Amino acid sequence: MQQRTFGPTGRQVPVIGQGTWNMERDDRALAVAALRRGLDLGMTHVDTAELYGDGEVEELVGEAIAGRRHEVFLVSKVLPDNASRRGTVAACDRSLARLRTDHLDLYLLHWPGRHPLADTFAGFAELARAGKILAWGLSNFDERELAAAVAAAAAGEVGQVACNQLFYHLEERAIEHAAIPACEERGIAVVAYSPFGSGRFPRRESRGGRVLAEIAAAHDATPRQVALAFLLRLPSLFAIPKASRPEHVAENAAAADLVLGPDELRRIDQAFPRGRRRPGVPTI
Ligand code: NAP
Repeated sequence: MQQRTFGPTGRQVPVIGQGTWNMERDDRALAVAALRRGLDLGMTHVDTAELYGDGEVEELVGEAIAGRRHEVFLVSKVLPDNASRRGTVAACDRSLARLRTDHLDLYLLHWPGRHPLADTFAGFAELARAGKILAWGLSNFDERELAAAVAAAAAGEVGQVACNQLFYHLEERAIEHAAIPACEERGIAVVAYSPFGSGRFPRRESRGGRVLAEIAAAHDATPRQVALAFLLRLPSLFAIPKASRPEHVAENAAAADLVLGPDELRRIDQAFPRGRRRPGVPTI
């Protein structure tokens, strides 16, 4: 599994990780097996959140990584409504208990909310001092919100923003206009969530679907692998597809080895145009 330096953390993190949203709806044993298969294949970046299944998914992840915690780059997220200073610390403690671990590799603010960032960041700093989080980051922040967060972080003692987790797939490329460049110029990692459009992957018979299928055939690959390789063409990018079936996990992991040529990248770019710049960042 190809790895990249994850923003300012200096950590080597696999370019393709594993999402877990809605996993509480899946067959539990199969989902646990899928996550473990992903770890076997080097997809050690595991993304979860207190939101998912109202804590149930963190418990499932805890089961999946039991005995293998040291292999995992474990990420969870605090809900904005919980993100006061004390609330952030308390939410993280609850997540750690459900995940059966004493620390997270990365803790994210799930989206911008009502609590002042300075308070949330004071909570992150307290958690870091206690060794409960090794790094922290953001999710769903547009370029203006990111600039404000970077300024708030610089005014405190929390250290640097490690990443911004953003909605990014072939049919939703809006973050390429400003949100990705804002991260890149600050050395912040970009984590693409819902890289398959969260279940709305282009159909084979659509124009774009045909382009993906043709390129896939030339590489003995699949359209989803081509899609992931396209999203990962930028050096700041990581992706966290969710899959509860071990065979899906294996297909996704193999995408890390696929390198697309300039003509192929151009064809995909034309088939899935990034569209006009819009205010804010898209969310799901
Ligand atoms: P996604 O990864 O775009 O798509 C997941 C869907 O694709 C599932 O139905 C899955 O099926 C299917 N799938 C995966 N690999 C496949 C394959 N190789 N072949 C066929 N189908 C495949 O959707 P997502 O769950 O919305 O996004 C990924 C992760 O990003 C989430 O799980 C979550 O961790 C994170 N996320 C973060 C935010 C945020 O606000 N920060 C928001 C949304 C998502 P099976 O499960 O049946 O395998």
